[in-house]
Amino acid sequence: MPLMNAVVFPAFGPPNVFRAVRVDRPTPGPDEALVRIHAAGICYHDVLSRGGRIPRDTPGQILGHEISGVVEEVGANGPASRIGERVVIYQRIYCGQCPNCLGGRQDLCRNSRVLGEHGGGGYAEYCCVPLRNLVPVPDALDLDSATLAVCPVGTSIRALVGVAEGKVGDTVLVTGAGGGLGLHQIQLARALNMRVIAVTSSPGKEEAIRAAGAHVVIVSPDGAFSGEVWRQTGKEGVNIVLENVVSTTLGESLRACASRASVVILGNVEARPVSLDPGLVIGRRLRISGSGNATYADVRMALHLMATGAIKPIVHAFLPFREVGEGHRLMESRETTGRVLLKGW
Ligand SMILES: [Zn+2]
Ligand SMILES: [Zn+2]
Repeated sequence: MPLMNAVVFPAFGPPNVFRAVRVDRPTPGPDEALVRIHAAGICYHDVLSRGGRIPRDTPGQILGHEISGVVEEVGANGPASRIGERVVIYQRIYCGQCPNCLGGRQDLCRNSRVLGEHGGGGYAEYCCVPLRNLVPVPDALDLDSATLAVCPVGTSIRALVGVAEGKVGDTVLVTGAGGGLGLHQIQLARALNMRVIAVTSSPGKEEAIRAAGAHVVIVSPDGAFSGEVWRQTGKEGVNIVLENVVSTTLGESLRACASRASVVILGNVEARPVSLDPGLVIGRRLRISGSGNATYADVRMALHLMATGAIKPIVHAFLPFREVGEGHRLMESRETTGRVLLKGW
């Protein structure tokens, strides 16, 4: 059995818990493909998994669900013509038979898991996934960039287009604007002709947020930003909030909303409950929704917007896979401006 390099976390713990190991290279089943991994993104979801903060997770796994690569081998039922294809991997392994799957919402399949959550993820040289999870990358897009298509770009499309139903001319408030989600959400909103107000607690991220295209940047170390949003919108408020932070920002975000605004919760940075002012939600007729993984349609839109240059990938750093612990440390310290990508050993 050929071996491969991988990085695992033997127990839940701090970023330095990761260990580089040699493990069996997986073999594709009849309806699977073996993908040679080009790069893998580090998601905050991985940080929560490593810390033991995702229910039902177990340690010892190969994490990672943001994967680009090249098809190395296909199972007995796969067309050999796919070997050599450049792909990203749809991040959820799903049943394909439930009402949600059949309705095109594989992201909501209850018999599913996120790739890497229970092993077999992207912090390795190879991974095996069902053939149907392979999404071809357009010729105009390089694989480094494509690594960001499923999550964070696809996740942002789900939230802004799918859940908030944003339209041309809307004003969008983005919290945690300097992070991996925020910087891509700003570009997405610009591509869709929306006005973007971006909030960050870090003065050091202001320049990157402006470069991503935000019309207004509010640097708010103390977290009190709703007054400035109110002023910037002529006391109208925003139509949409993309909440990437939540625990320290939600109250102010709700106060920044126009009547009938849509507030989309994406972030769970501190993984703890928050309080809510029901009077505000009722008075302004606010809609608060959760959003998560992208659908296939979102991933295709992400690849298109990236291939045409409408959304440029923002990568904070490339690190070799062995240094994944440093990548997690950076994510946890919130020092990153954009995604951290793992590439090369
Ligand atoms: Zn992710
Ligand atoms: Zn299903």
